Amino acid sequence: MSHIFPRHTKSAPPTVARGEGVYLYDQTGKQYLDGSGGAAVSCLGHGDADVTAAIKAQLDQVAFAHTGFFTSAPAEALADLLIEHAPAGLERVYLVSGGSEAMEAALKLARQYYLEIGQPARRSIIARRQSYHGNTLGALATGGNMWRREPFAPLMIDTSHIAPCYAYRHQQAGESAEAYGLRAANELEAEILRLGPETVMAFVAEPVVGATAGAVPPAPGYFKRIREICDQYGVLLILDEVMCGMGRTGTLFACAQDGIAPDITAIAKGLGAGYQPIGAMLCSGAIYKAIEDGSGFFQHGHTYIGHPVAAAAALAVVTKLTSGGLVGRAQAMGETLQAALADAFGQHPHVGDIRGRGLFRGIELVEDRESKRPFAPERGIAKALKKATFEAGLICYPMGGTIDGKNGDHILLAPPFILDDSHVEEIVTKLETAMRQVL
Ligand code: PLP
Repeated sequence: MSHIFPRHTKSAPPTVARGEGVYLYDQTGKQYLDGSGGAAVSCLGHGDADVTAAIKAQLDQVAFAHTGFFTSAPAEALADLLIEHAPAGLERVYLVSGGSEAMEAALKLARQYYLEIGQPARRSIIARRQSYHGNTLGALATGGNMWRREPFAPLMIDTSHIAPCYAYRHQQAGESAEAYGLRAANELEAEILRLGPETVMAFVAEPVVGATAGAVPPAPGYFKRIREICDQYGVLLILDEVMCGMGRTGTLFACAQDGIAPDITAIAKGLGAGYQPIGAMLCSGAIYKAIEDGSGFFQHGHTYIGHPVAAAAALAVVTKLTSGGLVGRAQAMGETLQAALADAFGQHPHVGDIRGRGLFRGIELVEDRESKRPFAPERGIAKALKKATFEAGLICYPMGGTIDGKNGDHILLAPPFILDDSHVEEIVTKLETAMRQVL
């Protein structure tokens, strides 16, 4: 009997034995194309010798030293490299062990910032329905996915949620993409005014919505207007790039394509590319200065923040991403993937939308294309597709609850940036097989 507490207690997963390039292999030797990089993690694929060598070299130097006493060379170099490529104004990097931790740090830093500058009434967080920011209680409260939140709602801090920017379902007939983007963004202003601007601390959003929605990009101009509103009311803009960041959408930071910079951003997943558990929160110079000039201490921390081995791995990953042309490759191969998906499924009676940026692509499934009616949740389409694709030797990320946390289904694709045309073909063929079986 296994003593592991698995994700699903009623079905034991196979044991992973090894990984090479875009493929994983289980203990029986069965091959799986990692079409979602796990959950948008493995941007470099499996078995990258440079990252492994960096980890080994760091282990030979020193594995761990507590940040209460020391900083480390890989942590310093990683912070320098991230800031060199970060959106304007971001100046400091706080290294943690994953995405939820990065979001918790972001929320607590926002709160402490307002305490330091003498605005203690600012405590409200506004986020969006159809979003996921992590599974720890603060991050879970911030996310808008009802299915994930519901059981734990009694334990959560108050947050409010506005509509997502979701053109496929919310852009009206005859409305331009720009007009829709403006209308969606203006919901933030209405919510700030409803709560009282002096009480609002932060607005939180994923630039391209991942797990809960299937790579939904913002409408043109949406984030420009969001930035304006945040500035007007003194509300901090926190962008969650845990899934869409680190080159996944074709630029190292996803928000670069929307021409804005946040006050705080969270990254993880692709930062360690799966070689080590690591995440980071980046904040503006102004926020850092408020702490520096005030208490001089960010009242937060975990034992493993700034872990030298994790930092060494991430330094090797980000070095490869920023100097090896891989982010450009994610952009180009993303176009190839989008075209192949459109070719194979563009006219499929149960495919409503194919969308995304770079190698971050989503397919929204519907029962009826014309009315965009989703499948009834009881049909468990996403769950069945996950099983069928896995059996066909493809790892992808089908999820239910696309529309409101309860209704709708989508498939998320986020393959390693090293994939080539033959892998794109293999993804499409295996998806076709699974979709034929399930739909
Ligand atoms: N934020 C986003 C956008 C995510 O997609 C995730 C994970 O899927 C998280 C936060 C939480 O990250 P982690 O699972 O590393 O804690």
